[in-house]
Amino acid sequence: MSEFNELPSGSAVPWMEAAIAACGSPLVSVTCPACSEIALSAEWTLLEVKSRETAVDLHCTACEARQSLRMVLPEGASACWPFERFESVAEAIEKEVESLAERIQRHASTMPAAEFATNPLWAEAQWCATTFQWHPTSEAPPLMGLVFENEEAGLEIFRSVEDKMNHEDRFEEIRISIVEGAVPGQELRPGYSVHLCADPEALEAHATFDDFVVDRSIVPFLGQWNRHYPIPGQPSLLTKFKEEFEQHGEFMLAPTVLKDDGNRYMQPELGIIKNVIFFRQLSDITTPDDPDAAALMLPELIIPPA
Ligand SMILES: [Zn+2]
Repeated sequence: MSEFNELPSGSAVPWMEAAIAACGSPLVSVTCPACSEIALSAEWTLLEVKSRETAVDLHCTACEARQSLRMVLPEGASACWPFERFESVAEAIEKEVESLAERIQRHASTMPAAEFATNPLWAEAQWCATTFQWHPTSEAPPLMGLVFENEEAGLEIFRSVEDKMNHEDRFEEIRISIVEGAVPGQELRPGYSVHLCADPEALEAHATFDDFVVDRSIVPFLGQWNRHYPIPGQPSLLTKFKEEFEQHGEFMLAPTVLKDDGNRYMQPELGIIKNVIFFRQLSDITTPDDPDAAALMLPELIIPPA
């Protein structure tokens, strides 16, 4: 605790109460214990998922009072605030996300879609691009292809759930979102992010297992990401995919391999049929507890092609 200000015991309670109020409603200021103005705001970072221990920094814009303290994160508050703290909380949460993935693998037989989304092979497979295909006269639903650097690992992710899912995500347990909009610092390189994760609500529905509790604060850190930069001047594959999806209300998610002839080939025999996908704009994501919040951190993680 040495890096935190020592609070005289009598004055600790009002600051703690102010911190709880500020974490509960980050967009509005709360009453400052020092000057009584409604000018106190909080920034915080979750330090530990299980205990919900959180480091909070309070600042009053009226009297410039500052106070740092540790407390239990109030129910319903997001794991961090503002976005700038996302990366540091991601590090603290990493182990919990890994542990969740392990628990999912243990219960894989009853939640194959979640097993698919958290398969440890994703790291090895290196999802490097996303591609779309559709029937020339729109007589069949479109396809969304995931291109893998490591073809064998990528195909194995799909094979691992082939029998259990019977090629269909019946309960929509794989959440897929496509987030459009230029990220800060890449205004001249339009692109979109594809986010694939185990659906948080489907996971919660499985929370009847003794060892299976999904902490809401880890949801934004779940899943696999790919950022796609369309070739300038080429027609948008995504626009066409959206039209085709709207028409059919269905698409197939399939692995895609690169053949010797330089072309990409989807493997529909390993595909998974889905009826839900989220099309979003980056500007819609305004809080760190949004399930797609990591989209805003991607510019620091992904460098666009030259
Ligand atoms: Zn004040």
